[in-house]
Amino acid sequence: MRTLVVDHPLVTHKLTALRDVASDTATFRSLTAELVTLLAYEATREMRVQPVSVTTPVGVARGVKLARPVPLIVPVLRAGIGMLEGMTRLLPMADVGFVGLRRDEESLIASTYADRLPGDLTDRDTFVLDPMLATGGTLATAIGMLVDRGAASVTAICLLAAPEGLRRVEETFAGEGTDGAPWLRVVTATVDERLNERGYIVPGLGDAGDRLFGEI
Ligand code: URA
Repeated sequence: MRTLVVDHPLVTHKLTALRDVASDTATFRSLTAELVTLLAYEATREMRVQPVSVTTPVGVARGVKLARPVPLIVPVLRAGIGMLEGMTRLLPMADVGFVGLRRDEESLIASTYADRLPGDLTDRDTFVLDPMLATGGTLATAIGMLVDRGAASVTAICLLAAPEGLRRVEETFAGEGTDGAPWLRVVTATVDERLNERGYIVPGLGDAGDRLFGEI
């Protein structure tokens, strides 16, 4: 697994405002979208392309277009939905699948309540959107669903990550993939200190789903 912490002043600036307990829902939503677009720019750096020529008003230029099949974006319900707009802004041609995972607040174990993914993901680049990589249970389950369907690559975009979660995802998929290609990546704005006893990232930003959509 390759972990990329995007080190950029705009990312850190927006993340700092996002963490602020005083940021209201509207601010939190727009900051999330902007931050995801910045992370997505780095997360898509290795997407497969094919050469094409294009006719300009004054000649012919060589360029590229994204290879087929189109990528699949997978927001993890519920909080991942808040990241979708920022991602599709950059990849408007992508398909979107949905995974619903609920984390038991006592055991911290994730269980699946929705699976709206294509059955065959052969040759497809996939991007999982999950704002908080905490224990890693949710993300590992979502990645496993994509791997089982044959995804060519999985890139998880997380606003924040905890060291414990990164370790868990890395250990879960150690040894998978072929020929050393970086098929599994995590792209995040920061790796925070640790998890607390309730599985929250410290200092983190609190409950991302609640801050995006309100408490349930
Ligand atoms: N989920 C959240 O929304 N926040 C955390 O800190 C951990 C998991």
